[in-house]
Amino acid sequence: MEVLMRTMFQSLGKNHSMNKLAKKYGLRMGAARFVAGDSTESAIQTSKELNNSGKVVTLDHLGEFVFTEEEARLSTAMCIQTLEAIAESGVQSNLSLKMTSLGLDISKELCMENMRRILHTARMNNIFVRIDMEDYLHCQISLDMYKELRKEFDNVGIVIQAYLYRTEQDMNDLHQYQANLRLVKGAYKESPEVSFPEKKDVDENYKKIIKMHLLNGHYTAVASHDEEMIQYTKRLVRENGISNDQFEFQMLYGICVELQDRLVKEGYKVRVYVPYGIDWFGYFMRRLAERPANVWFVLKNFAK
Ligand code: FAD
Repeated sequence: MEVLMRTMFQSLGKNHSMNKLAKKYGLRMGAARFVAGDSTESAIQTSKELNNSGKVVTLDHLGEFVFTEEEARLSTAMCIQTLEAIAESGVQSNLSLKMTSLGLDISKELCMENMRRILHTARMNNIFVRIDMEDYLHCQISLDMYKELRKEFDNVGIVIQAYLYRTEQDMNDLHQYQANLRLVKGAYKESPEVSFPEKKDVDENYKKIIKMHLLNGHYTAVASHDEEMIQYTKRLVRENGISNDQFEFQMLYGICVELQDRLVKEGYKVRVYVPYGIDWFGYFMRRLAERPANVWFVLKNFAK
């Protein structure tokens, strides 16, 4: 049953008509628990509140289904607007983005041009930019582009997914780039040809890459709500004398808030990933796919 629901939400998230409908009717169906509103103002307001509770932020202007050059440039302009709003408001936030929303599926050149514009503005404002990792089809090209950009910019990082078989090799290749990595388990539906089908293997690989990256001395963002992974990281840094400024925990807005608060109290750096914008539907479906129990929360909201 759970597998069925997961597959259904993953497919819905990719459905263009459903995305259009969701855009038209606004933030409903309980999505507001996971998405910080439609506008840059609401995203900045949420960031301020999170900063006040001791957390730092990464803002993600949601933009999925970009098919034209014009849409890619609009999405780029929104990222730049977000960077300017972060700088003007003084909130402690960096930026996360998806390269498909900057035209990756249209042409690599267009996407690189847009990335350079964003990274340039971010560098001028001392803001770090993280490239989210998307599905397997985009993995190689995302890593290739990251490596090219990393030679020009210090303020760029990327994400590595523990569920892929190729991940350990990718980590070895990234070693020479001193990459600032966000490590995640992986959120997309991938085939068993490229990814571990069993959760226990994903978890094992996740621990392995956390250890690899931290012991290599590189900055590591452990992005997980899994207490076992968090305990593992705490133990690892303690036993190896790794200082608190070489890593951070990251969690999604609206998820495991008590755990986030506990980590802040214990003195760890906690960054909350805050998505916002009118293109919220695909993001919301991925969160439901991760945890079908969230559906009850959504249904309760509908009933209100
Ligand atoms: P799981 O084993 O899935 O979950 C552990 C526990 O966490 C669950 O038992 C539950 O208590 C809680 N939990 C997990 N998910 C939810 C949820 N949706 N709602 C409520 N509780 C939940 N994936 C990518 O593929 N690319 C990315 O760029 C990317 N960026 C991310 C950035 C951040 C900051 C985070 C936190 C995750 C990101 N992910 C990304 C998603 C990630 O790959 C996982 O799909 C997601 O984090 C769930 O895995 P988990 O590590 O939390 O552990």
